[in-house]
Amino acid sequence: MANTPYPESYYAASANAAPPRPALQGDVETDVCVIGAGYTGLSSALFLLENGFKVTVLEAAKVGFGASGRNGGQIVNSYSRDIDVIERSVGPKQAQLLGQMAFEGGRIIRERVAKYNIQCDLKDGGVFAAITAKQMGHLESQKRLWERFGHTQLELLDQKRIREVVGCDQYVGGMLDMSGGHIHPLNLALGEAAAVESLGGTIYEQSPAIRIERGANPVVHTPEGKVRAKFIIVAGNAYLGNLVPELAAKSMPCGTQVITTEPLGDALAKSLLPQDYCVEDCNYLLDYYRLTGDKRLVFGGGVVYGARDPANIEAIIRPKMLKAFPQLKDVKIDYAWTGNFLLTLSRLPQVGRLGDNIYYSQGCSGHGVTYTHLAGKVLAEALRGQAERFDAFADLPHYPFPGGQLLRTPFAALGAWYYGLRDKFGY
Ligand SMILES: Cc1cc2nc3c(=O)[nH]c(=O)nc-3n(C[C@H](O)[C@H](O)[C@H](O)COP(=O)(O)OP(=O)(O)OC[C@H]3O[C@@H](n4cnc5c(N)ncnc54)[C@H](O)[C@@H]3O)c2cc1C
Repeated sequence: MANTPYPESYYAASANAAPPRPALQGDVETDVCVIGAGYTGLSSALFLLENGFKVTVLEAAKVGFGASGRNGGQIVNSYSRDIDVIERSVGPKQAQLLGQMAFEGGRIIRERVAKYNIQCDLKDGGVFAAITAKQMGHLESQKRLWERFGHTQLELLDQKRIREVVGCDQYVGGMLDMSGGHIHPLNLALGEAAAVESLGGTIYEQSPAIRIERGANPVVHTPEGKVRAKFIIVAGNAYLGNLVPELAAKSMPCGTQVITTEPLGDALAKSLLPQDYCVEDCNYLLDYYRLTGDKRLVFGGGVVYGARDPANIEAIIRPKMLKAFPQLKDVKIDYAWTGNFLLTLSRLPQVGRLGDNIYYSQGCSGHGVTYTHLAGKVLAEALRGQAERFDAFADLPHYPFPGGQLLRTPFAALGAWYYGLRDKFGY
């Protein structure tokens, strides 16, 4: 029997204790079988349990093994494409509904942390940092756009003000979102898993779903057992492989890399991020960073299309970190890792139903910490027969990547190269 551990990372090294979770052996019956114990799966499971469903979660490796346990930890509101783009694509009515939901994920995280007493170093405050005047102009219109949807905890930062919250002289300004913030992502997932179990849900680790028998009473098969369920939620995202071939065609796994310094000490940490906000810049290929609870800098950036693991992550990410913070040149990097997110062509999530009883949500294309928490709620609503919000996502159009499975990676990399050049020359 395979035993897939967490990849080496700062998060795995500082994870809260978790109980042993055995692999599924034999047959079980449940109302809902959730495939994948990342945020999408755990959030779905929690909302369903809170509404009286019996839930069984199958996880191929360990809780939070995927992006949910490896990400930058940034609570970023809205979607990877903003509401104005959605509005142009789907019209005002659907955009209105999606816009109203765009800030709910961050609230759900905070409610979960408070209700289930999850220890995950939650901090309020996220900064979008503009490198060019054009990016600053975009932030100004983004603020107006978000305020239209009732999101008002926003402050534009001029050059002087951003220097007060980020000790880096690359930025011409920015926007502070006090309903953004940051967390220890794996500890959030582990806390949510404990909450699932406290409500009577069952999580099997080392239990990959290897086949789904579709039909009126679907059955999910694992190497040593099977789950018969009324409904299935597919939440394997970039790690799903080809379990559900219909989902693979319109999305592409991509890797992104993160490094973590040694502890910096209070004074140096405070000189970088005096208010302990997290930061992401406004480039298409963006850099993101924040401090951990023990005052290390977590710094991420870059994208590897097609999700190949780069050989030397530190060599890719450290120069980006030193460009922002040259004063860290003698600081040691203690951890470096890679993780996969799932990209769609529109960069909007792919949500839907296969037949009557198989539901899925995946492909939030980079910004997923908040969306995945919302997704769990929306999927649970749909299973309870209230599908209006689910349909607003399910009706978003999705297209296959040009070039099909074979050529989608070079095509997407070419697109990113073009946007990377635009970032570089400030277009
Ligand atoms: C390095 C990195 C940094 C990121 N930084 C940020 C950030 O700072 N802010 C932000 O908003 N977003 C960020 N993201 C994106 C965000 O982490 C993801 O969008 C989100 O965690 C996706 O959650 P998920 O539950 O859908 O998928 P995942 O967390 O990937 O979970 C999927 C789970 O399903 C399991 N699985 C797959 N197939 C099967 C199967 N057949 N049977 C059983 N289990 C299966 C996997 O093992 C995995 O545990 C980042 C992503 C990465 C990779």
